[in-house]
Amino acid sequence: MEIEQLKQDIVTASHILHQQGIAAAFGHVSARIPGTDTFIFPPRMSPALVRQDNLLTLDVEGEQLSGDGRPNTEFWIHARIYKARPDVQSVCHVHPPSCVVLGSLGETIRPLHASGAVFKNNVQVFDPITLIRTRELGDAVAKTLGQHGTMLLRGHGVNVADKDVRRVCVMTLWMEEAANYQVRAMSAGKPRYFTPEELEIIYPQVSGEEVSNRAWEYFSSRVE
Ligand SMILES: [Zn+2]
Repeated sequence: MEIEQLKQDIVTASHILHQQGIAAAFGHVSARIPGTDTFIFPPRMSPALVRQDNLLTLDVEGEQLSGDGRPNTEFWIHARIYKARPDVQSVCHVHPPSCVVLGSLGETIRPLHASGAVFKNNVQVFDPITLIRTRELGDAVAKTLGQHGTMLLRGHGVNVADKDVRRVCVMTLWMEEAANYQVRAMSAGKPRYFTPEELEIIYPQVSGEEVSNRAWEYFSSRVE
């Protein structure tokens, strides 16, 4: 993918996350420059204010290679996940309300509706209460993520890592949707979570690229 398209996808994803109530003043989406240990990263400002011409370039050691602004302070999340996971092409870190509530209840995502099944029972939990502002904490976050694509940071937010910006954006939206349903179900009674057998049935129906592409088509059309 061309760098310009990559930058445009970061801008679009950032604006979607803001418009959908996933991020207000804080949060960030990044993309690896394909085949390198460098990545495109927003400056220290709201996702709503990200533009192609204010994006920065950093590397996995935390060095800023280009751009005039300062990076968001939690860039170590992105840097060290890219370092640990050569397969990851995009990372999102945001503080979505229902995910934060769920983490506070000692829970993680437990699928109870179709789109939520995309997470299976693989959403990891990072327990320490801190912003991720050092290399060491970035490494700890990457270790907790392991070979998975999603994690809750208790009392803080979520990290999503996947194959491209569009997929990462949609997975982030779906994660907050799943957390929202789960919190509401827990408030009303005893949720009937999908069993492992049920997940085997529904997962292939919702996890494909054509499903997330359709979601991206819709959400991106709302911010153009
Ligand atoms: Zn944060």
